[in-house]
Amino acid sequence: MQERELIAEADARARHYLDGIDGRPPFPPATARDGLAVFSEDLPQQGIDAAETLRMLDIHGSPATTASNGPRYFGFVIGAALPAAAAAERLMLAWDQCASSYDTSPVAATIEKVAGRWLLDALDLPRDSAVGFGTSATACTLSCLSAARRTLLARLGWDFDQDGLFGAPEIKVVVSETVHVTVRKALRLLGFGMARLIVAPVDPYGRVDPARLPALDDRTILCLQAGEVNTGEFDPFAALIPVARAAGAWVHVDGAFGLWARASSRRALTEGVEHADSWTTDGHKWLNTPYDGAVAICRDADALAQAMNSDAAYATASKDAQKNLMLEFSRRARGIPIWAALRTLGRNGVAELVDRHCEEAAYLAGRLREGGLDVLNRVVLNQVLVRCGDDEKTARVRQAVLDSGDGWFGTSIWQGRPAFRLSLSSWRTTHSDVARLADRLVSAAAGA
Ligand SMILES: *Cc1c(COP(=O)(O)O)cnc(C)c1O
Repeated sequence: MQERELIAEADARARHYLDGIDGRPPFPPATARDGLAVFSEDLPQQGIDAAETLRMLDIHGSPATTASNGPRYFGFVIGAALPAAAAAERLMLAWDQCASSYDTSPVAATIEKVAGRWLLDALDLPRDSAVGFGTSATACTLSCLSAARRTLLARLGWDFDQDGLFGAPEIKVVVSETVHVTVRKALRLLGFGMARLIVAPVDPYGRVDPARLPALDDRTILCLQAGEVNTGEFDPFAALIPVARAAGAWVHVDGAFGLWARASSRRALTEGVEHADSWTTDGHKWLNTPYDGAVAICRDADALAQAMNSDAAYATASKDAQKNLMLEFSRRARGIPIWAALRTLGRNGVAELVDRHCEEAAYLAGRLREGGLDVLNRVVLNQVLVRCGDDEKTARVRQAVLDSGDGWFGTSIWQGRPAFRLSLSSWRTTHSDVARLADRLVSAAAGA
């Protein structure tokens, strides 16, 4: 089959998949998962026809997908893919740009710069910040924390690039008791050592308690969060960040999904976050762009560009080239789907998306409370954390809803005991999907 027919075939199959997305079970049934056995073949000696490969992928692969791009997936703050962003991605596949710098892709460098400017505008963060587009919030946090460490060490007269970590002044890290596992991972990879992290105690809502904030100084990185993953709560930035800045510490904010509250009528939750030094957020969660699209934002643009520099002898230097802001050297222009999402939503559309999910979360929490389930959080954002009687009953209720196909969601541990977590973050989820989930949860709780 020629390239043209093959792409048309892929496109037809993709359209067919999307046509059926509303009816697809949120988690694939056992029969579909068993069908994945066909992929356990040995590497063929002789290449197999591309159309046949595509057919196999669709016939056996599509049924075994989680319908996270559908309306009834409530797990992990995953989000779906907005048509505008997915369409941009589709065209980008044809371009196959290596978006390292202007040299390798003028179009990518130009549009990603616009996307960066729009992000700072939408999130109302310092307009001179560097914006790097990375694969994930995890990777973006790693980049920001590298810049943080290098900068703090430079202020102490230590040349991290030349002399590395051995013998360097110790940089302390203060994290919230409820810090996300991926921030811990980034810190671990950077060599900070899990046993050496200083834990800031949280209040009953899961927010860092300003009254019990550990001592900070000019060799400390303080990691805060906008949107705790269980509760959707925000650390009290306005109380914490001025203390950190006065001490000369670096403040990094993990806002993987929650930072988007700043672009909505929930903006007050983020008050004071603009005074931090660096921030991460995802496109692929609440902004509903395809994977993998995330953002590292650093107030001191040079700090990020120097930490992440990868200028080679054969390429010209530019401090705002993406290869000098992120881990990847060769990379796809992951800022373009973000640009497309922002352009088609506009400022109002972003606010509406976020606000609508927050309103649906509040509605869902209200229905569950009326129905006798225990909603454990205040539901300030889009996360609803639930138990139902004892741990066994909580597990039974969750399983009954999963079996019904009315929704999929995961479990968590909150204050030492199991719970389940419902997240509203797909553009495709309608009020009737949420009502259907509420009905099912309430009837499961009554029957369990
Ligand atoms: C999902 C999430 C992350 C990690 O983001 P990835 O893009 O999956 O790496 C970090 N922090 C919070 C609060 C999250 O919800």
